[in-house]
Amino acid sequence: MSDGVANQPQLITYVDRLAGDLAGLHRVLTDELAGAFGGVHLLPFFDPIDGADAGFDPSDHTTVDPRLGDWDGVSAIGADVAVMADLIVNHVSSSSPQFRDWQERGAESPYADMFLTLDRVFPEGATDDALDLIYRPRPGRPFTDYEIAGEVRRMWTTFTRDQIDIDVTSPAAWSYLIAVLDRFAAAGVKVVRLDAVGYAIKRPGTSCFMIPETFEFIARIADEAHRRGMQVLVEIRSHHRRQLDIARQVDLVYDFALPPLVLHALHTGDAMPLRRWLEIAPRNCVTVLDTHDGIGIVDVAPDGRMPGLISGEAVDSLVEAIHDATEGRSRAATGAVASNVDLYQLNSTFYEALGSDDEAFFLARLIQVLCPGTPQVYYAGLLAAPNDMDLLARTGVGRDINRPYYDRAELDAALARPVVRRLVDLLRWRTARSDLFDGEFELLDGPPTELGLRWTGGGHRLEARIDVAARTHRIDVDGVAVPIGREP
Ligand code: BGC
Repeated sequence: MSDGVANQPQLITYVDRLAGDLAGLHRVLTDELAGAFGGVHLLPFFDPIDGADAGFDPSDHTTVDPRLGDWDGVSAIGADVAVMADLIVNHVSSSSPQFRDWQERGAESPYADMFLTLDRVFPEGATDDALDLIYRPRPGRPFTDYEIAGEVRRMWTTFTRDQIDIDVTSPAAWSYLIAVLDRFAAAGVKVVRLDAVGYAIKRPGTSCFMIPETFEFIARIADEAHRRGMQVLVEIRSHHRRQLDIARQVDLVYDFALPPLVLHALHTGDAMPLRRWLEIAPRNCVTVLDTHDGIGIVDVAPDGRMPGLISGEAVDSLVEAIHDATEGRSRAATGAVASNVDLYQLNSTFYEALGSDDEAFFLARLIQVLCPGTPQVYYAGLLAAPNDMDLLARTGVGRDINRPYYDRAELDAALARPVVRRLVDLLRWRTARSDLFDGEFELLDGPPTELGLRWTGGGHRLEARIDVAARTHRIDVDGVAVPIGREP
């Protein structure tokens, strides 16, 4: 990442699920994981962390959940590694003081303009055709009826019924968002993740997703972040052509195509779709293999007449291959069988999606850290976690299969596993050699089973050849083989 954030691996983590609280996480980052990460994406740590979708519906976005610590705890982590935090732009919790005040006082409330009702977007009423155009991460209409000062109002709720969409064009919502940015800047946050920003602007007669006005909104909020010394990462999941368009207009995007393409390569032994993507993939990206959400499918699939990065049949086979690799456990967490925010994602840990095969898992991460972009590693992926069927059974929430809780003893045991130590070693190497990866990237020719990459930077040259069928790799720096990935 440019502008002061080094191009080094970053951890993505819940504070509580990995390390109890902010102080605990700080210790892990500077002790057991010292040197492995240059940054951390702290998943929502606002009050409360246990609302809808694990904190993605803050009641108070400017307060740290006291169970985790306070803003000083965030600043303390930021003094050692770059902190990324979510600006949840699309919605707030139905239990936020602002929504409650409006529910009670109606038009008298200072927040009367802050929330998005159906009729704010469709003052003349909405036809079924217009409503059918609206894009949403699952079938059905994005509305929930709430009683507001004695009157039933149809609220826009893109995600769950408790996540109330806000009208980001209203002065009340704008000052709310600015207050959050100010709080982030004061705590030394370096990168702002614009959560689900593709849905932020709604206009009648459109899909209400990533429309031209959305880009204007992103530019406006990015400008405010820049003025406070922060970069912006835009979170959008959609067809890869769209991602390419978006990447040209913003600081940073995710490469959400990478995870399914890496899985496809390792499951089929064919590296060609991955190679073709890397030729055109945005360079201003954050790469992931896994996140707190499921594995995206829309990012590689065809969309209507637009071809995908792999065919529709290849997508179906990949999904089946993953379900087989997890011995069916991912099936119990994916789609309509579990409670899911996004029906178009597949829920499994990345480790199980590769059949719990240590070698395949290492190669997947090796590919990720050698690809252009800033690599982010999700804590369950760092720890090669199995699918958490107990948590899934307790909560019924599909994504929880990949959102495990660790206590101290479990964390120590996970960090001691050879597969994890190997990965931490790789991350330390990638962090120490970020000079190479700030340089020039090239793809090398080779057989279809091979991914060949070259980096020239900082006066050095790296060449890597990874055979996804034979599951072997070789890395040379300045012509000398580097022993990355040997058993530690
Ligand atoms: C987050 C999800 C969340 C959704 C709504 C996504 O970007 O990654 O976990 O549920 O936005 O906030």
